[in-house]
Parts: sequence; structure tokens; C-alpha cells
Amino acid sequence: MPQSDVAIVGAGIVGLAHAWMAARRGKSVVVFERDHAAISASVRNFGMIWPIGQPVGERAETAFRSRDLWLELGQKKVLDVEQCGSIHLAHHEDELAVLEEFCGLAEFDVRMVKPQQVTHHHPLANPEGLQGGMASDAELRVNPRVASQRIAAWLAEQHGVEFQFETQIISVADRRLESSDGRTWTAGRIVICSGSDLKTLFPDVFAESGLRPCQLQMMRSTARSDIQAGLPHLASGLTLRHYESFRVCPTLTTLKKRIAEQTPELDQYGIHVMTSSFPDGRVILGDSHVYGADISPFSSEVIDEVMLRELQKVFRLPTWDLEERWSGVYAKHSELPIFQQEVEDGVHLFAGPGGAGMTMSFGLAERAWQRWE
Ligand SMILES: Cc1cc2nc3c(=O)[nH]c(=O)nc-3n(C[C@H](O)[C@H](O)[C@H](O)COP(=O)(O)OP(=O)(O)OC[C@H]3O[C@@H](n4cnc5c(N)ncnc54)[C@H](O)[C@@H]3O)c2cc1C
Repeated sequence: MPQSDVAIVGAGIVGLAHAWMAARRGKSVVVFERDHAAISASVRNFGMIWPIGQPVGERAETAFRSRDLWLELGQKKVLDVEQCGSIHLAHHEDELAVLEEFCGLAEFDVRMVKPQQVTHHHPLANPEGLQGGMASDAELRVNPRVASQRIAAWLAEQHGVEFQFETQIISVADRRLESSDGRTWTAGRIVICSGSDLKTLFPDVFAESGLRPCQLQMMRSTARSDIQAGLPHLASGLTLRHYESFRVCPTLTTLKKRIAEQTPELDQYGIHVMTSSFPDGRVILGDSHVYGADISPFSSEVIDEVMLRELQKVFRLPTWDLEERWSGVYAKHSELPIFQQEVEDGVHLFAGPGGAGMTMSFGLAERAWQRWE
């Protein structure tokens, strides 16, 4: 029976983060992925590494540490990592108030910018009704469509990590893994990074974990040569309701009240719009959030229409022609940045970084390995 120091279930960004941290420690590592490649949340996202969305303290520190690790991958030429930064836009007085209050707290290295400066730096920001913005240099962009594959290939080539693709693990017990085609492996430590699949392995533990699935709808515009490379990420004022770092701002109450009273459908569908522009001139647009039992197998045209309405209020794209729409699902814990539990001696569940998996995974995995070793 093949044996390794470490076995990881799932080749999404969380599994890859663990594979990297284990390989860095000189461990022999095997990663199991049921598909031909990771094709779930880790490829369906915006590719935003977004530290300023995390609340100050351990969460933000972990995000900034992850950021350093992404930059290390960029320096090693594993993949392109753009230091694009971000701009939060304020098209309402209450949004401006939150941004000003947040800047005043000086918890992050952020600065207020006038409307003309915003549109000068970012031609896709809609100048109509723009009251100002908040700029940050910390955010990064990676291409989520290639990131997982490139990292996996590099881990295999440079660190000798073994990947078993198209291998569904159906049981883990006594540090032994079994696949659906009857093969077995043993490992000194097993980390289960199964993303939103909370049913195949240890379903009872997951049922009690406080994790629940969340479905997001996304879109991508057609390529335009007049969209320049390197543009910062853009976030509308609606995102201030979403990112936990802004919860320390009492001014947020007014903004939330306005949305609840005037556009309750935005709360109902969890809509807060953002853009990420890629060097090829395509722009990823999103997103909406539907939780648990409300998740439908069918994409909702109503959600897309409301999202496009809100996107068009705050962003000005040279084209609104869309070439793709898709949905993605992640698991999210109501309080924790990720759910971690040692279910058996040496067998760890590590799942559910919610909407911040690209931002947090490397730092979370590094912390875990510091504790385990
Ligand atoms: C639309 C969308 C936009 C997002 N935008 C961002 C963003 O811009 N920035 C950010 O920080 N985060 C973002 N996120 C969140 C981020 O993408 C996720 O938190 C992260 O990708 C989760 O990674 P994961 O490895 O846990 O899960 P996954 O990517 O789902 O990977 C889990 C893998 O495990 C495999 N697997 C499961 N069970 C088994 C088994 N029994 N045997 C073998 N293989 C198995 C699955 O096939 C899958 O490939 C977004 C998410 C979505 C959906």
C-alpha cells in the first residue's frame, strides 16, 4: 500500500496551500482530487487577494501573510501576481461617510481619493454621482483559471508532490484512505480540504460544524483592447455591507438601513458588486450570495438583472457584452475564518474559508502547520 508523510483530499486552493506548507517542511505529500483538475470555487472566483476586507488582528495578519506568499509565487514565476491595489467607490453620501470613518481609524494603509483622481486612475469607475473613493495598494490579482493548475504543476516539479487526479476518496479511517475504485493509501497526517463537499467524508462532523454552502452568480465581459492592464480592483459602496473590516464603523448603520428600505432585493440576493479587469481586456463581474436551502440548481435571471443594474450604476465598461455567466459554491462558517477539526488522531478537516479562500488559505495553512509540528 503506497505510503506518504501527508495526504491531502482536494486540489483547490486550500488543499494546495497545505501541500505547499507540508512540502516546505520536507514531507512527502500526495494530493487527491476527484476531477481532472480543480474546477470548483478555486477557479470560479475573481482572483482577488483582498487583505483589507479582513477585520484587524489575527485575520488581517493572516491575510497579509498570505499576500506575501502569493508574491513569493509571483517572484518564483509560478504564475503572474499583479500588485493592482483596489478602490472602493462611494456613489452615496452614506458610503462616503463609512469610507472616511474607516480611513480615520488608520487600521490599514488606505487613503481617500477625490472623484477626479478616481476616474483618472480607473477609467471604469462611473463618474456620474461619484462622491469619492478609498484607495489601497495591498490588493493583488491572480488569474483563477490558471492559478490552481500552475501551483499544482510547480508543487509536482519543484517539491515532488504527487497528484492523483480523477481519484475520489470515499473513506478515511485509521490514517488510511480509500478511493472509489478500491485503491488504498496510508499517510502520517491527512488533511481533508473538500471545499463545499460536506457530505462525502465525515458528514456527521460537517453537519454539526456550523458550515453552510453559499452560491454566487458571476459574469465576464468580452475582451476589449481599450481596457488597459494593471487596473485596480473596483468595489462598489454595496461591498461595505459585506467585508467584515467595515463592521467597526458605526456609520455603516445608515447605509444598511437605506439598502434595506429602498432596495431590499440587494439584501435578499446578497448583491454587492465588484470588478476585476484582466490584462487580456476581459472584466470579471459579480456577485450575489444565496445560502443553504435557498440554493437552486438553476441560475436566476432575476439575480443577474439586478446585479447588472447595480453594476451599471457604478462602473462604466466600454462593453456590457457578456461572454460567460457561471455560478460557484463555497462553504462558509458564520464566525470562523475556516472550520478546522482533528476528527481522528492525525486526520484534520480544514474547510470553508467562505468568500476569502484565495485571500486567506496560504496564511491559514501556514498557521496550522506551525501548530501541528
Ligand atoms: C464566485 C466566487 C467568487 C469568489 N471570489 C473570491 C475572491 O476574489 N477572493 C477570495 O479570496 N476568495 C474568493 N472566493 C472564495 C474562494 O474561491 C474559496 O474560498 C476557495 O476557492 C475555496 O477553496 P477550497 O480549496 O476550500 O475549495 P474548492 O475550490 O471547492 O476545492 C475543493 C476540491 O476538493 C475536491 N474534493 C472534494 N471532495 C473530494 C473527495 N472526497 N475526493 C477527492 N476530491 C475531493 C473537489 O473536487 C474540489 O476540487 C470566491 C468564491 C466564489 C465561488
